[in-house]
Amino acid sequence: MRTLQREEVSVYVGLGANLGDARQAVQKASGDLAAMADTRLIACSSLYQTAPVGAQGPDFVNAVVHLRTRLNAIDLLHACQGIENDAGRQRPYPNAPRTLDIDILLFGEATIKSEKLTVPHPRMRERAFVLLPLQELDAQLVSPNDLQFVRSQAIQKINSMPD
Ligand code: ADP
Ligand code: MG
Repeated sequence: MRTLQREEVSVYVGLGANLGDARQAVQKASGDLAAMADTRLIACSSLYQTAPVGAQGPDFVNAVVHLRTRLNAIDLLHACQGIENDAGRQRPYPNAPRTLDIDILLFGEATIKSEKLTVPHPRMRERAFVLLPLQELDAQLVSPNDLQFVRSQAIQKINSMPD
């Protein structure tokens, strides 16, 4: 059974796709996230194009979305996985090209280490495609040191996400 939290939590999720129409998949996902129960969309970053990091296949389209939700973290993960599955996500092997990936980056101030969920996302500070869009949404969440760490990664802003 779902248990709702009494107060909304501020959540940042990272979106990525590199199969099919990746830009369209990321844009549709932001709408799907906004339509989740007990959840409001606060803001979407621009879209970014990035070379794969530790993965294979074509370039990725990435973005970060800020939500406020009353879902608990596991229910949010399941809702995100439902959106991934609806987008045709398959997992033939680790880091395979993907039609849509949704990762929970930050869930309020929570630190979660369970079998299914680690928050803050353990690799988010290693990835320019997370840090640059996250910085757009809240500059305080990204430090100069973070940016220095990812400065060699190829990334390009491709446009603003439409409403
Ligand atoms: P990737 O690590 O490439 O994003 P998947 O999207 O297939 O791979 O996710 C693999 C597993 O990662 C999921 O089944 C999920 O339980 C787990 N997971 C752990 N922490 C998180 C998180 N913060 N956000 C999303 N999934 C997570
Ligand atoms: Mg994932």
